[in-house]
Amino acid sequence: MDCRERGDSVHKSAASRLAALSGILVRNRAGLCLVSTMSEYFESVGRSLRMKITGVETLVCHARMRNWVFVKVLTDQPGLFGWGEATLEWHTRSVVGAVDDLSQLLIGEDPTRVEHLWQMMWRQHFWHGSGIVRSTAIAGIDLALWDIVGKVHGVPCHKLWGGPVRDFIRLYCHLGGGDMESFYETPVDNAKRFGELAQRAVAEGFTAFKSMAVPSTMPIEGLRPVRAAEACVAAMREAVGERIDIMVDCHARPSPAMGMQFAKVLEPYGLYFLEEPCWPESIDGLAAINAAVTTPIATGERVTHLAAFRDLFAAKGCEVCQLDITHCGGFTEARRVAALADAYRIALAPHNPQGPVSTAASIEFGFSQPSYIICESVHNDVPWRSEIVDEGFQLDTKTRTVTPNTRPGLGVSINEEAVRQHPFQQEVLQRVFYPDGGVGDW
Ligand SMILES: [Mg+2]
Repeated sequence: MDCRERGDSVHKSAASRLAALSGILVRNRAGLCLVSTMSEYFESVGRSLRMKITGVETLVCHARMRNWVFVKVLTDQPGLFGWGEATLEWHTRSVVGAVDDLSQLLIGEDPTRVEHLWQMMWRQHFWHGSGIVRSTAIAGIDLALWDIVGKVHGVPCHKLWGGPVRDFIRLYCHLGGGDMESFYETPVDNAKRFGELAQRAVAEGFTAFKSMAVPSTMPIEGLRPVRAAEACVAAMREAVGERIDIMVDCHARPSPAMGMQFAKVLEPYGLYFLEEPCWPESIDGLAAINAAVTTPIATGERVTHLAAFRDLFAAKGCEVCQLDITHCGGFTEARRVAALADAYRIALAPHNPQGPVSTAASIEFGFSQPSYIICESVHNDVPWRSEIVDEGFQLDTKTRTVTPNTRPGLGVSINEEAVRQHPFQQEVLQRVFYPDGGVGDW
């Protein structure tokens, strides 16, 4: 019987119980099917309980600034596998190796014991999983495991966690839609260009966008970079008015002292949030800036585990938590971070400039989390992005909002043949030096 050959999970509905005398309806990913006896039913259930992981693969897709690292967890059930993403710019080979190392813990294990497997990946073999390479590798696998669980039960991931908490999610874009030159390389002495790109984002339907209007600065500099940043933000506000939300990402370039200057000079422009005004390690600096301005301070994309978020939240270092689901251990740890953020009434706006599985994960997460406010998105990083993925959520390009995915798991299918057309290449290096030759932050 087809459903048994597939070995999919089964669960009786009320209708199936009524059908018990003549046969039992069971649900699998292909829909409902009939087993003729109770013993067949329990054998089918037992088959799902004996499900095992048979392999963990990585597929690397070169996307200019990034190599998207897709993680595929295979099972012994024909046709049942999960997709995750573990993209970590400039550390692609390290993450691929880390996924391979972790897979040794997973082969033969039940993929539906996600928390148990997460604990193994994070705690076993002595070294904890909090470093960025391993936490990213864990995340890629964890997302794929949740994708499998959703497929086993025939529901999107957000329904596994209590169902949708909102009707739609708003997207924000990078200036230029994520093309490297517009977002990262528009010089801050060209305020007019910032205004033009802002208008283009709004013309594309976005009601919110992010810019990098703060230059790289030495630990202390004079007024010039501060005034340049102010001019860029003023130009964007002038271009789009007050009904559009503007974000500025400082990329943790400034010192706490310079971050404070940028935060204060930009405060009158009513930013939706000001991102990484100083290094994430400078929790005291973040807290001081957050206390000094009404602009919400956002950070968290480089924070990889619950205890580090605890320290950040307890210090009042931010109002917006930008956890990266593909860097902080996947859904399993992200859900704990979200619960902790709720205790502090901190908003969630996950970091998501990576590939399409990361976006699907952010969307699933967003439909399950009350404090989620907006989804970071890129659509113009490479022209063939849509060839790589078929997504389950519905995008309204007029309003740049999405409605929930109705497919099982993450709802994505990856075109592996298309991925193979973009094999690994070294990412474009982004190296910053100050005018005196010293090393700066990108
Ligand atoms: Mg950022």
